[in-house]
Amino acid sequence: MTQRVSNIPSLRNQRWTVLGAARSGLAAAELLAAHGAEVFVSDRAPEKTMTEQKRALEKLGIACEFGGHSEKVFECDAMVVSPGIPSDAPVVRRVVDKGLPVVSELELASRFCSVPIIAVTGTNGKTTTTVLIGELLRRVYDDVIVAGNIGLPFARAIIQAPHARYAVLEVSSFQLDHVETFHPHIAVITNITPDHLGRYGMDFDRYRASKERIFNNLEREDFVVFNADDEATLEAMKRCTRPATTGFSASRLLPEGAFVRDDRLVLKMREKEHEIASMADLRVPGRHNVENVLAAAAAAFLAGVPIEDIRQGCVGFKGVPHRMENVRTVDGVDYVNDSKATNVASVVVALESYTRPIILIAGGEDKGSSYEPLRPLVKEKVKALVVLGEAAPRIAETFQDITRIIRVKDLHKAVRSARSLAAPGDVVLLSPACASFDMFDNFEHRGDVFRAEVQALEPQKVEA
Ligand code: ADP
Repeated sequence: MTQRVSNIPSLRNQRWTVLGAARSGLAAAELLAAHGAEVFVSDRAPEKTMTEQKRALEKLGIACEFGGHSEKVFECDAMVVSPGIPSDAPVVRRVVDKGLPVVSELELASRFCSVPIIAVTGTNGKTTTTVLIGELLRRVYDDVIVAGNIGLPFARAIIQAPHARYAVLEVSSFQLDHVETFHPHIAVITNITPDHLGRYGMDFDRYRASKERIFNNLEREDFVVFNADDEATLEAMKRCTRPATTGFSASRLLPEGAFVRDDRLVLKMREKEHEIASMADLRVPGRHNVENVLAAAAAAFLAGVPIEDIRQGCVGFKGVPHRMENVRTVDGVDYVNDSKATNVASVVVALESYTRPIILIAGGEDKGSSYEPLRPLVKEKVKALVVLGEAAPRIAETFQDITRIIRVKDLHKAVRSARSLAAPGDVVLLSPACASFDMFDNFEHRGDVFRAEVQALEPQKVEA
């Protein structure tokens, strides 16, 4: 394992502004202050909604303001910008125009990280792949950071576990928009499909380019694990020349890398073949999860995890909540929580995972992508489509000629309507294709509400 050279910078006498006081902003501010910087945190949200954050910052002696950005924001030597704030927001532009560095919390935290990093990016499958890589590494290394865009900010993980042996990070394109020196030892790209296009001026090339920033600082001794079946990923790989590359594919044999042969997952690395598992052994459903397992197995192998640990870890992996999570079977109908499916591509993989009739519950905050790519699968598999939220009219319009549409106002009604339409053997699938913020705090909240509604259903027959 390559140990990165520890070169922790001192920030004494530096003034830093942190824009955004959500989880990652707070962690960045704390890390900066711990290394001697003078920190100022500014958030647009009204003070009354940020009392906890304010208290946390004041306890650390960090100056802050809420309800807008004052001129004090610009009195700095550098800025950390939170992922929720677009790069072209006027407040960010002004700092960039002054020639001052603007970095993401990911970039900042990586400057204080002296252990090798495995960074997972892509449109879908990041969390699942990151969590599995973390589980595989934890089988051999005592102290592994699993962080990033996954609930625990990297900066917070660095504060909590300064002596970790490895860091596995889920990295979003927003975080990559502001990196300079960020340098993973192993970079994993799960896939690149249209999502978040609103944030990138509806420009897919710009979105892909932001993912490609993960390659910026890779060297010859580093590795890239990439989806060899995904066109946009292959396009991105053309610009990745220095490190060694390992492909994965769930649909064809590769000369080297991770792939499936005769229903068995195989790693062929350095000309040696290792069997990981049979498809039937995996507990996580769907072809997309085969891709996630292949990617994680390849990354873990490159990080030095013995093949037997990779085998046991992959077979034992139960997946992550809110991603095709089997909640319960009621009267022969399976209820599945895929609340994390916030874009069209992830609904495609969810629908592809079933051969049974599906009652699909979809809708939420519209992200501007077209729902058209779902038409063939909806036509083939979706017996009825229950729609809710802001995107409901646009979704209904896209599918009204090919399936039955039921419009409802909330998840309580959605679950009950779906139940009334389902027959034994069917699947009721919450896979929204939309963000959740029109009706919920986040996708976890939406999934929790769905789960609670399903748990509240009374079976008609007493199960034998
Ligand atoms: P991310 O962190 O990138 O959003 P997750 O692992 O949380 O990815 O999965 C989010 C959703 O994306 C899941 O609900 C699933 O439907 C879909 N998904 C997961 N893995 C893949 C994959 N490899 N390819 C396409 N879609 C996937």
